[in-house]
Amino acid sequence: MAAMSTPAHSVQRTPEGWRTPGIANLHSHAFQRAMAGMAERQSHPEDSFWTWRETMYAMAARFDPDTLHAVALQLYAEMLEAGYTGVCEFHYLHHAPDGRPYEDPAAMSKALIAAARDTGIRLTLLPVLYMAGGFDGRPLGERQKRFGHDVDGYLRLFDSLHAMQDDALRVGCALHSLRAVPADAMHAVVDALPRDARLHVHIAEQVAEVDECLAVRGARPVEWLLDNAAVDARWTLVHATHLVPKETAGIAASGATVAICPTTEANLGDGLFPLRDYLAAGGGWGIGSDSHISVSPVEELRWLEYGQRLATHHRNIAVRADSPSVGTTLLQGVAASRAQATGFDDVDDHVLLDAAAPILAGATDDDVADRWLFSGNRNLVREVVVGGDRVVIDGHHRDRDAIALRYAKAINQLL
Ligand SMILES: [Zn+2]
Repeated sequence: MAAMSTPAHSVQRTPEGWRTPGIANLHSHAFQRAMAGMAERQSHPEDSFWTWRETMYAMAARFDPDTLHAVALQLYAEMLEAGYTGVCEFHYLHHAPDGRPYEDPAAMSKALIAAARDTGIRLTLLPVLYMAGGFDGRPLGERQKRFGHDVDGYLRLFDSLHAMQDDALRVGCALHSLRAVPADAMHAVVDALPRDARLHVHIAEQVAEVDECLAVRGARPVEWLLDNAAVDARWTLVHATHLVPKETAGIAASGATVAICPTTEANLGDGLFPLRDYLAAGGGWGIGSDSHISVSPVEELRWLEYGQRLATHHRNIAVRADSPSVGTTLLQGVAASRAQATGFDDVDDHVLLDAAAPILAGATDDDVADRWLFSGNRNLVREVVVGGDRVVIDGHHRDRDAIALRYAKAINQLL
């Protein structure tokens, strides 16, 4: 079982107002911020993740390091304003659109690092290993070529980025998915990584993916991973959506973190994570904004709980025997997984909520977390401090206007 410390208070009363630890965003593809709200027209009666992916690939093909930097700046400033103080960037747009590496093979990664530094957000950069177009090992399609590496090329990229680590940057490894990474390559890469490197993987987002894994590898994705890798606290399993009870218990027992992305999983029609059983098994979890159709920890946490209510016809699901408040339990959950999933220990990041907001009038230690997460849509984040640096003041990122201008230019270029 994961030995994770649980903070006593999720939101604390201080002389400056209600204060809560910065929230880690465990899953992001920054470039997808540029297409938020642009894939909501039916192209086929059976529209699904797989038809959405076509739109996403068309957008991905247009990016270069400059436009990626501009879009990531906007996204990271929005994250900070929403109360996220760290982001795990699951980054696979490595090469030029035709698949050839840029003159600096790390140019796209460095665009993300620069955006994180410029905005002041903590970055856990997870360069993605992406090798195959499916479980059968078929080569990457034309539009997937800019994602691809062989094992040696990947490790060279990883090493060059890992050497850049500092107080605000951690570099870990992402395996795109079991369908995109053959088993021998997974072992070669995992064995070559430094012991401190975090490992993230898209694991079981789609039913078709589960079926294909069963057909080719003879096991469901989570089942296969638990049997074939030393899954432990270094691992984060993203979209552990489709689980059977044995897998739910297996992840919880491994000490791994699950990254749940409720708004994206809803937007893509993925399915619902078995939260109640997983919490009962003591599993560690956090949230991610993934495709960025929403950039708000409030909305992720709210919909994590609401999805369970809609499915079970009950209320107040995310609780523990010693924590009857849903809001407190949810905030404690994301705080408890933070260091383990991001690689940042003991960070001094915090968020101050707007004590003058009517929604918080008369709030108490016992109900402030519930009021923050479960009432209204006004952003209550007033101030955000990352590593002692005040990056959001009066609800605005310090460079909000300049970043928005650059973003608008980049979007016009991309469209
Ligand atoms: Zn993802």
